[in-house]
Amino acid sequence: MSCLFCQIAAHERPATIVHEDEQLVVIEDIRPQAPMHVLVIPKRHIATVNDLAAGDQELVGEMVRRAAAVAAARGYADRGYRTIFNCNREAGQTVFHLHLHVLGGRHLGWPPG
Ligand code: 5GP
Ligand code: ZN
Repeated sequence: MSCLFCQIAAHERPATIVHEDEQLVVIEDIRPQAPMHVLVIPKRHIATVNDLAAGDQELVGEMVRRAAAVAAARGYADRGYRTIFNCNREAGQTVFHLHLHVLGGRHLGWPPG
């Protein structure tokens, strides 16, 4: 198994795991771009947002709600935070296993770079 996030989800590669359940794992990003930078990752391999199917509705909902829960637990619910799915080359996706970035703790510029 060569996929980085499949390996992390299977505990075959080290990561700082901040939440885990049947469907998801949430880890600290190894190169944080803000005081809070976690990744919400489905345990099942899905390469990009383009590969989501109708049956994945609940999974995506769980990912977004988990992002909100982690942000709230860290005190960012009212201040604000950002959730991002990068998809493919021009968005800068580098790991081709679906993940939702959750960033907070500083002013995040708009439009993004
Ligand atoms: P992407 O560019 O695909 O949207 O985001 C991939 C993210 O995964 C990047 O923010 C990068 O820092 C993070 N990342 C890459 N390799 C590792 C790793 O081995 N461990 C952790 N925790 N994060 C990683
Ligand atoms: Zn994978």
